[in-house]
Amino acid sequence: MAEHTRILLVEDNPGDARLLREMLNDVTAFDYMLMHLDSMERAAEYLGTNTVDIILLDLGLPDVQGLEAVRRARSASPHAPLVVLTGYDDEAMAGRALQAGAQDYLIKGQIEPRGLRRAIRYAIERKVMEEALVAEKERAQITLNCIGDAVTCTDIFGTITFLNAVAQTMTGWTLEEAVGRPISDVVRIVDANDREVFSRTSAGLTRHDQSSHLRSDYNLIRRDGTKVPIEDSLAPIHDGHGRFTGSVIVFRDVSAARAMAEQISHSAQHDFLTGLPNRMLLNDRIEHAISIAPRHSKKVAVLFLDLDGFKHINDSPGHAVGDKLLQSVSKRLVNCVRISDTVSRQGGDEFVVLLSEVERPQDVAVTAQRMLKSVAEAHSIDQHDLHITTSIGLSIFPDDGEDAATLIKNADTAMYQAKENGRQSFQFFKPAMNVRAVERQSIEESLRRALARNEFVLQYQPKVNVSTGLITGAEALVRWTHPTRGLVGPAQFIPVAEDCGLIVPIGAWVLREACRQARAWADAGLAATTMAVNVSAIEFRDEGFLDGLFAALADAGLDPDLLEVELTETVLMKSADTTASILKTLRNKGVQVAVDDFGTGYSSLSYLRKFPVDALKIDQSFIRRISVDGGDAAIVTAIIGMARNLKLRVVAEGVEEPQELQFLQDQQCDEAQGFYFSRPVSAEQFAILLERRGLVPVPLRSAG
Ligand code: C2E
Ligand code: MG
Ligand code: MG
Repeated sequence: MAEHTRILLVEDNPGDARLLREMLNDVTAFDYMLMHLDSMERAAEYLGTNTVDIILLDLGLPDVQGLEAVRRARSASPHAPLVVLTGYDDEAMAGRALQAGAQDYLIKGQIEPRGLRRAIRYAIERKVMEEALVAEKERAQITLNCIGDAVTCTDIFGTITFLNAVAQTMTGWTLEEAVGRPISDVVRIVDANDREVFSRTSAGLTRHDQSSHLRSDYNLIRRDGTKVPIEDSLAPIHDGHGRFTGSVIVFRDVSAARAMAEQISHSAQHDFLTGLPNRMLLNDRIEHAISIAPRHSKKVAVLFLDLDGFKHINDSPGHAVGDKLLQSVSKRLVNCVRISDTVSRQGGDEFVVLLSEVERPQDVAVTAQRMLKSVAEAHSIDQHDLHITTSIGLSIFPDDGEDAATLIKNADTAMYQAKENGRQSFQFFKPAMNVRAVERQSIEESLRRALARNEFVLQYQPKVNVSTGLITGAEALVRWTHPTRGLVGPAQFIPVAEDCGLIVPIGAWVLREACRQARAWADAGLAATTMAVNVSAIEFRDEGFLDGLFAALADAGLDPDLLEVELTETVLMKSADTTASILKTLRNKGVQVAVDDFGTGYSSLSYLRKFPVDALKIDQSFIRRISVDGGDAAIVTAIIGMARNLKLRVVAEGVEEPQELQFLQDQQCDEAQGFYFSRPVSAEQFAILLERRGLVPVPLRSAG
C-alpha cells in the first residue's frame, strides 16, 4: 500500500462531497489523498490508469444507479475495496450492494468522522482477507482437481455443492449440472445387493454428522448406467463454530484392485488347469454342507473319482493331450450335478464331488452312474476321439463320517475297491474297507513272497473261430493262488505290481510258463494253438524285454509263430519310434502282435497303419452293448470293417450271449473269446478242450 491512503470519491452532489472531505480532515493523523469525480464514466476512465486504495461510491449518480453502479465500479477496479453511500431510507439497497461485492455501506446524514475512518480501514482489511480467501479456495479447487480420488461435497440437506474433476468423469455429471441436485441423483452408490446407499427416501448418510468408511463391496452407477466398483469414505464438514455444514464424500475406482483381489482369491481356491474349486475350497464347502444338512434332515455325499489308466494317456499322446482330457472330463462332471453341488479337482486325475442335499443314497448312485456314462463317452481332442473311464467311491454323511477329511478318505478307500471290482464302476464305502486299504499296502510285500514261493498260476481261455467253432488259440491269464485268500484275479494285484515294478519279474515268469505250456501241448500231440500273453507297458518298455522273450521261446523250444503278444493301444502310442522298432523285431522273428482292449484307449486309427500289428481285440465293453443298446453295435461294425480294410484279424472279447455271437457272425468277425465258449481254465482242462479237436459248439449262421 502507498504511504497515503488513496481514496476515490464518486459523488455528483457537491455538498455531500464537501461534507465528506471535511470529515476526513477532522480525523487526526489520517494521511490520505482524495480524488473526487462526479460520474461513473469519469471514474471508470480514471481507474483505467490509476490505482486507488478504496472507492467511496454514491449509488445515485447521473449516469448509473444502484446495483449497476456497484457492478461497474467492481469491473473497473476488481481489487479495490468498495464502500457505498446511500440515503437513510435505502438500507435494503445497501444490503444488496454488500451481496454484489461491496465491503461496507454508509448512510448519508449519519456519517461522523471516526465512523468514516473506521469504515475505510475495515473495508480495506476485509478486502484483503476476501482476496486471500478466494486465492485459498482456488488453490483448494486446483488441489482437489489434481488428486486422483473423486471428491464430492454436499450441504446439510445432502445437496451437491461441489464435484472435483475426477468425480465429474466418474459420475458422468459436470459440476454445473450437478450442483444443487440431491446426492442420490449424482453419486449413485449401490451395495453388493444393488440397494441404493444414498436413497432419496432414507435420510441419507450425507445428512449425518459422522464420518464413516463405506463398505468395500460398493459400486458406483455412472450416469450412463455402467457400474464401477469403488472404495469410499465420508466425512462431515464443520464451520468455525464446530457446526455441521455438510459432508465430503471421497471415492476411488477400485476396478483394477478388486479384479486383482478377486483373481488372487480365486486362484487360491481353484485349480489352475480346470478352473474347478480346489481341495481347500472343497473342504470349506463340505464343512458348510454338513453343518446345514441335518436341519433339513438331508444327507451329504462325497464322491471320489479316479480316471482309469489316465497315466498311459499322459505318457503316450503327451501332457498337452492329457491336460485337455482333464478339462473335458471336468466339464462333463459339472454337467452331471446341480449348481449347488461342487465338483473339485484334487490334483492329477482325481476329482472329488460334493452332493450337498441328498435325500437317499440311491439318488447318489444315480448320479454316480450318470458320471460313469458321461465320462466314458468319446472326448474329441485335437481331432482324436479319446476314451477314458473312471472309478468312483462314495461316502455319505453322517453314516460314513462326520467331517470332510473322513468323508474324503473313506470315499477314496471305496474308490480303490471300485477299481478292484473292475474299472468303470462305483462303490459305496463299507467300514470293512478300511481294513482292506491297509491290506493293499502289504500286497507288495506278499507279491514278492508269491514270486519266491511260486504262487502264480496261469489259466487259459480259448479263442474261437466264429464260423467253425475251432479253437484258434489260448490267452494266458495270470492268477495268484494266495495261501489264505485262494485264487486272486489279476485286476487285484497287477496294478500294484505295475506300481512297484514287480510286474517285470512276474511278466517274465508268465512268458516262460506260457511258452513252456504251449510246447507241452504240442508235444502231447494236441492241435496247434497260438499262445497269447498280455504284456503291460512297464514290461514292454523294460530293456530286457526282447531278450527275455526270445530266451523264453528258445528255452521252451516253441515256434515263434505260435506266440502272440497282447498290448494295449496306449502301450503302442508310447514313444512311437522305439515301439515301432520293437514290433518290427518281434514280427521279423514271427511273433504276432495283437492290440488288446481296442477302443478304450487312444483310438487314433493312424497308428494302426504305422505299426506292424496282426490283430485287434475289440474291448468287451463294446460287445456288451450289442445285446443291450442297438446304437453301439454300429461301433463294432465299424471296427470290424476297418480291420478288414487293414487286413487285420479281429477278435471279439467277452462274448457271453448267443445274440452277440450271432451279430459277430453276421458281421464276419474272425474270432471270439468269452464265457459263452469257455471261462479261463487250467492247463489240464484246456488240454481236454483241445482233445475234442478244438471244436466248440457254435450255432448255425443265420440264412440272411
Ligand atoms: P484282458 O487281456 O482283456 O483279458 C480278458 C479278461 O476278460 C480276463 O480277465 C478274462 O477272464 C475276462 N473275460 C473273458 N471272457 C469274458 C466274458 O465273457 N465276460 C466277462 N465278463 N469277462 C471275460 P482277467 O483274467 O481277470 O484279466 C484281467 C486283465 O488282467 C486282462 O485283461 C489283462 O489286461 C490283465 N492280465 C491278465 N493276465 C496278465 C498277465 O499275465 N500279465 C499282464 N501284464 N496282464 C495280465
Ligand atoms: Mg488280453
Ligand atoms: Mg482285453
